Amino acid sequence: MKVVILSGKGGAGKTTVAASLSYVWRQEHVAVDMDVEAPNLHLFLKPQITGSSEFTVEVPQVDESRCIACRKCVELCNFSALSLLGKKLLAFNEMCHSCGGCFRICPVEALVRNNRAIGNILTGEFAGVDQNSIAFVGGRLNIGEALSPPLIDAIAEYLHEKHESADIIIDGPPGASCPAMSAIKDSDLIILVAEPTVFGFHDMQIIYEAVADAGIPIAVVINKADELSVKVWEFCECKGVKVLAEIPFDKDLAQAYSNRQILAAYSKDMYKIFTELAAGVKCYV
Ligand code: SF4
Ligand code: SF4
Repeated sequence: MKVVILSGKGGAGKTTVAASLSYVWRQEHVAVDMDVEAPNLHLFLKPQITGSSEFTVEVPQVDESRCIACRKCVELCNFSALSLLGKKLLAFNEMCHSCGGCFRICPVEALVRNNRAIGNILTGEFAGVDQNSIAFVGGRLNIGEALSPPLIDAIAEYLHEKHESADIIIDGPPGASCPAMSAIKDSDLIILVAEPTVFGFHDMQIIYEAVADAGIPIAVVINKADELSVKVWEFCECKGVKVLAEIPFDKDLAQAYSNRQILAAYSKDMYKIFTELAAGVKCYV
């Protein structure tokens, strides 16, 4: 089973939910951090990192001795990563999305394929609720890089190769843009973590609309639940979406979070909430 935890905005609590769900999940599984621009699942799970592999993308390098300045690659590139200055072709590799189009269109093979490192994939292990060893995989985009979908796709490929039979619990990227869409590929359930504030509820509706047509079941967890949660409940009822858990709005929980504690390990009440959440998630298999 592959579960992706998303939220309409950062700070809604998806890492809190992912860490605790993974902690109480007793079947063989992998806890995965696909929030590659700001990874923090490791802060809670505290895995022992045993492997790190550099992730690179293909970008063009101009062979000036061959380039005839025909502009074909410049006109093709949707990302303005190539520009002609007089007869000199400039490549802005930070803007390149590695689509490969320019290599194919160049009539004189003046573009050479170059590898550019944009991040890392870390692997390791941490201890679950029974002190059982659980696999951890996390992506980290280098600072200043903007191209997270290829790294997210590479993590998915790694999981497919190395952990095909294991359950996968993913702390996804926040928001409703390309990284989130990359993270939900081939998943069995999307959990939206909703914060019942005005902004939180608004952004939760946006992410719901973004993933609603993906053909993947959706469930909701309300974090920092209070009297305003009724709006989220009403929305979910209207859309036919199940609310699988409510995490109460509590200062002690916020403090535990700031101390990087896994909420499911913080108290019996929290443990119960997350074991019930795990049971609810398994109903979607
Ligand atoms: S690989 Fe694609 S995105 Fe990159 S420079 Fe070439 S055409 Fe542009
Ligand atoms: S398509 Fe090839 S020859 Fe034409 S400008 Fe680009 S690199 Fe130069």
